[in-house]
Amino acid sequence: MTDIKKVVVLGTGVLGSQIAFQSAYHGFDVTAYDINDDVLEQAKGRFAGLVDTYKNEVKGAADGKADEALTRVAYSSDLADAVKDADLVIEAIPEILDLKRSTYATLGDVAPAKTIFATNSSTLLPSDIADSTGRPDRFLALHFANHVWAFNTAEIMGTAQTDPAVFDTVVEFAGEIGMVPIPIHKEKAGYVLNSMLVPFLNAGLALAAGGYAAPEDVDKTWRIGTGAPMGPFQIYDVVGLNTPYNILMNGGDDEQKLAAWLKENYIDKGKLGLAAGEGFYKY
Ligand code: NAD
Repeated sequence: MTDIKKVVVLGTGVLGSQIAFQSAYHGFDVTAYDINDDVLEQAKGRFAGLVDTYKNEVKGAADGKADEALTRVAYSSDLADAVKDADLVIEAIPEILDLKRSTYATLGDVAPAKTIFATNSSTLLPSDIADSTGRPDRFLALHFANHVWAFNTAEIMGTAQTDPAVFDTVVEFAGEIGMVPIPIHKEKAGYVLNSMLVPFLNAGLALAAGGYAAPEDVDKTWRIGTGAPMGPFQIYDVVGLNTPYNILMNGGDDEQKLAAWLKENYIDKGKLGLAAGEGFYKY
């Protein structure tokens, strides 16, 4: 068992709320921090939604466990107060480098020396942020996938400066909150999952956008040919089309053409994926 008892999650958006709730569900005292009380009020709705989701989708959660987890979540918009006893801070604030760096600079000043900082960043490298924390030896990435209760990988990736003991603690903590820890031995943009997933999704998209095969036939081929449960377009719908669009727009000419096709045929028509009721498929 690790020494981690008190967990603080920065950001109560899509991922932050899930990480906080998953940690509380596995018995940790959690403080969910966000920038102001209005945002925290919205977050309470998100947490209530997670209680229902866990009851429906996580075995045993309906026997009082999900309701009990919610009692272990506290809310705060005062950073210094939120982190005063924190053993681990998991940061899930927007993917904007300057915002992350300035937040870590403040956090580094107010958090106790013992506190470990972990970023959930999907696309930034921890070494882009490490020096701003004031404690690069106690900083690393702990990367979750959306729908943490079901897609429960946790990729742990340090920098050259991360203390190996801190790395091991976070690997162990990930297991303690019901995740399958995936230790990554050196920095890699995209970690393990997105290093494979992004080229795979792009390849599927290029087939459809190039007019070679319809999205449902690309998916069918992948499912039948490999035994995988989902093809690329089913995955796009789960992820939501905005995130892949933004990633493609940051790429070269080929990627930008794929982005334009996605925008014209789907995004501009409100077909944003599963959460919108329609993407490549209707739900
Ligand atoms: P989101 O926009 O849903 O939530 C971000 C939250 O951070 C909001 O509640 C916002 O109010 C809050 N915030 C803004 N500035 C803040 C600050 N200075 N301090 C504290 N909170 C602040 O974003 P998200 O999708 O949850 O993504 C958050 C992070 O998680 C990003 O780094 C992203 O790359 C990563 N991530 C996202 C996903 C995903 O599928 N959405 C998956 C894995 C990792």
